[in-house]
Amino acid sequence: MRTLIAANWKMFKTRAEAQQTARDLVSLLQNDWPQERDVLLFAPFTALAATAEAVADSPVAVGAQDVYPAAEGAFTGEVSPGMILDCGASWVLAGHSERRHILGESPAFVGRKAAFALESGLSVMLCIGETLEEREADKLEIVLRTQLEQAVRGLSAEACLKGLAIAYEPVWAIGTGKVASEADILEAHAMVRNILGVILGSTAGSLPILYGGSVKPENASAILALDNVNGLLVGGASLRAESFSKIIRA
Ligand code: PEP
Repeated sequence: MRTLIAANWKMFKTRAEAQQTARDLVSLLQNDWPQERDVLLFAPFTALAATAEAVADSPVAVGAQDVYPAAEGAFTGEVSPGMILDCGASWVLAGHSERRHILGESPAFVGRKAAFALESGLSVMLCIGETLEEREADKLEIVLRTQLEQAVRGLSAEACLKGLAIAYEPVWAIGTGKVASEADILEAHAMVRNILGVILGSTAGSLPILYGGSVKPENASAILALDNVNGLLVGGASLRAESFSKIIRA
């Protein structure tokens, strides 16, 4: 399986800043493109088209950080899959922990987003992960199972194979500088693979599972070497092209 390294720029970067970062990244990578690595930038909606334009002649893909599960309608402030595709983006994040925990998105709503985005021709990175409280209460497996079941249960194997990636991101490790230990990552990724196996059968083995949570150039290669880790989703350390390019090459 190829390794997918994705940047989540969150609510950072104007159009000009996003274009500059994307162009800097392409020029840092272009003379020696890392083998077996795919690169993806989740840009803010306002900079989506600008970012897509900046990477248009490169293998870098672009995604949005959220999506609404309808083609169009009276949903003030929301953005449809068609609008995202129209900006030149091909991916979307669904269920990032900041949306689940700050904006109150339920597993069922995240599931609707993932299903509709896939149906509409976008690839989906479904983010799942437990809070510290849930981990300490021994609820890791039930949280991962609930989040995965609500999002994946209704999907066909074909749709999953065509466009679904999972990002395991322990909420307590996102933007905190606290990285999950190798044992924690191994345990959670094996759990995710097993749960996917129960829901999807043999398709589960082909779905990429990324790790996210305070990944940096210094810890990226050790995390990528772990079983069932097929890529990384990077927040803070993806904001600068130089540091993100080091992670891509890790
Ligand atoms: C994220 O935003 O998905 C993330 C993992 O952030 P950070 O790398 O900053 O922890």
